[in-house]
Amino acid sequence: MDLLDTLTAKGLRRETPTREEALAVLATTDDELMDVVAAAGRVRRQWFGRRVKLNYLVNLKSGLCPEDCNYCSQRLGSKAEILKYTWLKPEQAAEAAAAGLAGGAKRVCLVASGRGPTDRDIDRVADTIAAIKDANEAVEVCACLGLLSDNQAERLKAAGADAYNHNLNTSEATYGDITTTHTYADRVDTVTKAHGAGLSACSGLIAGMGESDEDLVDVVFALREIGSDSVPVNFLIPFEGTPLAKEWNLTPQRCLRILAMVRFVNPDVEVRIAGGREVHLRSMQPLGLHIANSIFLGDYLTSEGQAGQTDLDMIADAGFEVEGAGEPTLPRHRSEAGLGGGCGSSGGGCGSHADSDAGDGAHACGTGGCGPCGSAVPVSASASASGENDELRSDLVRVRRRGAGTELAPNA
Ligand code: SF4
Repeated sequence: MDLLDTLTAKGLRRETPTREEALAVLATTDDELMDVVAAAGRVRRQWFGRRVKLNYLVNLKSGLCPEDCNYCSQRLGSKAEILKYTWLKPEQAAEAAAAGLAGGAKRVCLVASGRGPTDRDIDRVADTIAAIKDANEAVEVCACLGLLSDNQAERLKAAGADAYNHNLNTSEATYGDITTTHTYADRVDTVTKAHGAGLSACSGLIAGMGESDEDLVDVVFALREIGSDSVPVNFLIPFEGTPLAKEWNLTPQRCLRILAMVRFVNPDVEVRIAGGREVHLRSMQPLGLHIANSIFLGDYLTSEGQAGQTDLDMIADAGFEVEGAGEPTLPRHRSEAGLGGGCGSSGGGCGSHADSDAGDGAHACGTGGCGPCGSAVPVSASASASGENDELRSDLVRVRRRGAGTELAPNA
């Protein structure tokens, strides 16, 4: 297929595809799906070999957020029956992080709900980073605390943070449909602040909120433009009690096409399958590893993932290997070019403020980790017309009841 040959060649050269080519990936048929995975897999192996980076989420502060992100189980007015607690003490967070590191994670993502941190909150997170790094010097730490004020990124960097996660989540054109309490420009500003302070920028998206293919392509090109070192791809977890609870419009095939499009547009960047991996890819998760080079181990912010050992078994069964703590994540040219403030080359880098289960380990509550949480945006005409709407599968969503904020052992 000419399209895939072109995209593979461009990916191997780190050349940006056209918008039309990116859109064409999303429009491929199920008959073409394995060819799409194989083409994206060639690009993935060129820059990341068969390594899979494991990241571990620690939800420092859960629920009770004043913001209204529709995808998020922690949002203002959320009726989702998630864990709600205020700041973990540094030693509690370090204990949770240790479980993830023992399970094979090399990065810990410290996430807190809320619009953004106070200066006192930055002190708390600095103490937490110290507690984690005292026990394990090699660990990468990514903070995901929401919108940053002036000088807060510099203070996190000085405290030892390697990366900062704040997801753009969706296109600028539709951002107002998912959140009204802050803007797309606010999010860009925070990613820019983090990058400017020398933190590796981690910023991604949430798919499945009713967006169009054009919206997905817009946000993925924006993430390339903003210089994100790691791109968490969240698949909306439609939490009961949030505006997007009925937004089940993803199929495993659609998720794989989205991952492939992200890989072709960002060939040499860490692409992470974030929140919603188990819920939406289901038995197709191993195919996702051929495209993405990074996942979260164990549970997400407010929802449970599959058992950590199952993650490890899946990686081994699919013929991949867990990336070691001493191995650089990103290709050498990115660190030599001054990109990737630490992660990738030897430091860190996360994703966004979209997680609770929307994403990557940072404010993402609808999917899985940094990103967002879950809502009421109408299903796009293209998704409906393609017949990809899924049936309601709320049975697949399990609210997290273990690990940080509970007396029960974490899943790692
Ligand atoms: S994504 Fe972050 S800012 Fe938005 S409601 Fe959830 S916790 Fe609050």
